[in-house]
Amino acid sequence: MTIFSEAELQIWKPAEDISFWDWLGKYFVLSKEYSDVVGLYPRELVPVFKILADWLDDPGIKEICCRKSTQIGFTTFIIGWFVYRQYKRPGPGIFCMADQATAEEMSMLRFKSAFESAKCFQGVKSQTTKKGTTLVTGGTIKMAWASSIASIASSSTRDYAADEITKPGYSLKTQEGEPVGRLRYRAKGFDDRKGIITSTVTLEGDRMHQIEQDADCTYLVHVPCPHCDQRQPLFFFKGETYLAADGTTQPGGYVHFDSSLENKYERARSARYCCGTCGALWTTEEKNAAMQKCSAHPNKPVSIEGEKRFIWIWRIHEVRSAGSLYSLVLEFLESKDDPEKLQNFYNNALALYFKEIVKKPDESFIAKAKADYRAGTVPDEAIALIATVDVQKYGFWYVIRAWSNAETSWKIEHGFIQGEEQLNHILFEKTWSSKHGPMRVWRVGIDTGGGRKDDGETATEWVYRWYFQNLSRGVQIFLTKGFSGSLPDNFKFGKPIFTSPTGKKLPAGLRLVLIDTDKSKDLFFWRINQAQEETPICAAYIPADEKPEYFQQLQSEHKVKEGAREVWTKKGNQDNHLLDCEQMQMIMASRQLYGGVFIIQEPVGIMQPAQPQAPVNNQEDDEDEGGRSRIRRWRR
Ligand SMILES: [Zn+2]
Repeated sequence: MTIFSEAELQIWKPAEDISFWDWLGKYFVLSKEYSDVVGLYPRELVPVFKILADWLDDPGIKEICCRKSTQIGFTTFIIGWFVYRQYKRPGPGIFCMADQATAEEMSMLRFKSAFESAKCFQGVKSQTTKKGTTLVTGGTIKMAWASSIASIASSSTRDYAADEITKPGYSLKTQEGEPVGRLRYRAKGFDDRKGIITSTVTLEGDRMHQIEQDADCTYLVHVPCPHCDQRQPLFFFKGETYLAADGTTQPGGYVHFDSSLENKYERARSARYCCGTCGALWTTEEKNAAMQKCSAHPNKPVSIEGEKRFIWIWRIHEVRSAGSLYSLVLEFLESKDDPEKLQNFYNNALALYFKEIVKKPDESFIAKAKADYRAGTVPDEAIALIATVDVQKYGFWYVIRAWSNAETSWKIEHGFIQGEEQLNHILFEKTWSSKHGPMRVWRVGIDTGGGRKDDGETATEWVYRWYFQNLSRGVQIFLTKGFSGSLPDNFKFGKPIFTSPTGKKLPAGLRLVLIDTDKSKDLFFWRINQAQEETPICAAYIPADEKPEYFQQLQSEHKVKEGAREVWTKKGNQDNHLLDCEQMQMIMASRQLYGGVFIIQEPVGIMQPAQPQAPVNNQEDDEDEGGRSRIRRWRR
């Protein structure tokens, strides 16, 4: 017969009638092995979890699904809940992670310490192995991982949690079904069953997305505006709407920052939350204070609230520094020029699904970027023209794009020309009409490519010679080259070059812009895709009257797996020159290339139209003598 200690006997007493939230603050202890906050669970630092704690106490709610950001402390909260459930009434539980190693580590590091240090279990024996924890009271928590379907299938469970369900392990389906369905099924027999399903998300269509679509609605975390008191959810991007408590649809707020500031840190420091109702700008402190009064509301009308609740919790709900408006904006600014980084920002910070970057652009996809303007005209918002040139044996392919300093761009022109003179005309003399006056090219990117030009000179040598001849024509020129292999950013500067490929000494050193063409093509197609979004980020538009040739060349490549990474590869022998020009455009406008279009305050490359009858005593022209008044001037 087992002899119980005094403390162990305590556990057989009916548990105190205490809510999960209050229990967390009274009994749940965090230890330094895994938490930066040590001691009793700091509820004031995680106000959003009060919503979930109340749901977990509600006997009518059987499962909570949470689409979440990384680093919000949700796993700790779930562990606390498992301990609380054992405190209230011992029973079987399963905690499922994506893979075995993580599950075992979770058991040994987190669960062991959680049971040993919980103030309500002091002196109560629990035994923890990699497989899970067994309590002397008869309760158990088994660790599982997604691919161990069999071990899940063999146990019934009252409590369950599945973490990171969008990770690869969970996608395995066997004859016993997929892991989440399996967990749910094993709990069916328990009237007081309860589960938590959670994950960061990846792409639209992932497992969490499916679960969200099956849910009747998504609950959003509302907070009251400190200025007008309107309860509203928090969004990052402008243009969202929400269902208010009175049943009306209202405009949502957004994270605002001053984009006229040059420096990204200054921009981040200007970050405020803009109220969707009164337009007041909240500071991070005001946002955090509002979070203490948060509540959850469905995003669409529901007549009967179901037994499952789906909720979206993201970084802004965090009241520690990671959730500051400054951190969010800085992370956005640092990721927005690279689709890969931007996806991480969407997934990890915003807990939003990301639309997959196109792998096979087809004409209908590209045509969606058509905007209401005609080829050859410069839209009013544009402040600079960029030309990119692909050098061929018998001529030059080129693309001209107009850019705003918010990195939105409009394709203006493309073409193939044969001679150097024609090229120089387009790059240095031609103007396009804009509301600011005739506009000429501000910056040129020209590919130093390979191959021979027709007169025996290599293309590279020709470009070098051309570069030094045209350096001082008032247009910025960059020489580019595709970089084989992947770079951390879209491009890097090459080492200074002092001699041409055939060993001729150059008049001065020059540095090539080495482009990661896979990244820059991703970025281009990402921006093409943005053109049809409701709140586009740096969209790339094409004119309404675009020619078929352009669509053909843009479809000339598709993404193909090469080892671990995917690379853009030519389909057969199709011309891809315009796609090359377009990806160069992305680099030429980039902030990392001497500030790019981002630092331009006023339109550049504007030519003063020649005055047919210049007034004789014009102060501006007092230096002018005869023909000099016809010399066009430009602003830089
Ligand atoms: Zn307000």
